[in-house]
Amino acid sequence: MLRGGEHGPVTTSSPRAAVVRRRRRSFYHGRMSSPHETPSGPAAPPPVRDREDIDPRGKKRDRSWPPAPEPLPVPVIDNHCHLDFADGDEQLSVHDHVARAAAAGIDAQITIGSDLEAVRWTAALLASEDCPPSLRGGVAVHPNEAALHARGHDHEGRELVGLDAAITEVSELLRGPGMIVVGESGLDWFRTSRDDDRAREAQIESFRAHIALAKELDLPLQIHDRDAHRDVLEVLEADGAPERTVFHCFSGDAEFARACADRGWFLSFAGTVTFKNADGLRGALAEVGLGQVMVETDAPFLTPVPYRGRPNSSYLIPITMATIAEVTGTDLETACRRIRETTESVYRWPEAVAA
Ligand SMILES: [Zn+2]
Repeated sequence: MLRGGEHGPVTTSSPRAAVVRRRRRSFYHGRMSSPHETPSGPAAPPPVRDREDIDPRGKKRDRSWPPAPEPLPVPVIDNHCHLDFADGDEQLSVHDHVARAAAAGIDAQITIGSDLEAVRWTAALLASEDCPPSLRGGVAVHPNEAALHARGHDHEGRELVGLDAAITEVSELLRGPGMIVVGESGLDWFRTSRDDDRAREAQIESFRAHIALAKELDLPLQIHDRDAHRDVLEVLEADGAPERTVFHCFSGDAEFARACADRGWFLSFAGTVTFKNADGLRGALAEVGLGQVMVETDAPFLTPVPYRGRPNSSYLIPITMATIAEVTGTDLETACRRIRETTESVYRWPEAVAA
């Protein structure tokens, strides 16, 4: 499932880094290309929709990009972001996000497509010759989308294909270039009511189909769990969790974190761990330590403190990493190194650096 050839490993510290950098320079002709300037093959698509489309409250917020933090001493990977979303007063291309991230010590990203439009966008980006070599992706039918597909129309009343058809398309596109994870799938009792029988059944059916897909394709599974810890655990236990199971944007307490870690699952922490009211989350992180922990942005959402509400992008990960290091009582360099090792082994990427 991994691309080889001209898409070499992404690193600044391996012996092959010089070769990779040379290749990347010639690929970019010495500057970041815009999505519309690729000489041949399909260009990297620009972000397809605005964050405000699904977050209307955002209209009144500060849409300026936060300043770049001090770069990390050891590069880490953002294992969950949504590059299909546009946000901010200044429009950033995929290449802009990648360049800003690289300058801050985030040298690779995994972009997640979580509704059919985003799924197709992600597949097109990864298949494009213009796709930055430091990007990989994953797709799934998000649990809230699963409920909509089962109902047959979205919130605006637009017709949607059935849930089976949506999962079939996801299954096909997951076999394409650059796809290294199934996700995000799981259960969401926050935006979709648990009391809505049809919606609940659709979410569970979709979750089970994605668990099966991850096993069939031997890929990790990224879990979306919102207000659904117990039910998520129950479904995973009943069906048997994929070998590499990741709780994206982990949101449980210390007890649930321990339950996940004891089962060999991984916890990915987002900017939420920096929030003032997130003592429970920091308690969860302190409980499990760094062994099975990764870092992500979920960008453009969940911007870390002190920039809550403003646009988010992978270059802001150093803020979240500082909190992770502090909570786990580790120096920043060690925390980055351990998280990088875990991320590489979970996603088996970048291959050459894992040794
Ligand atoms: Zn997400």
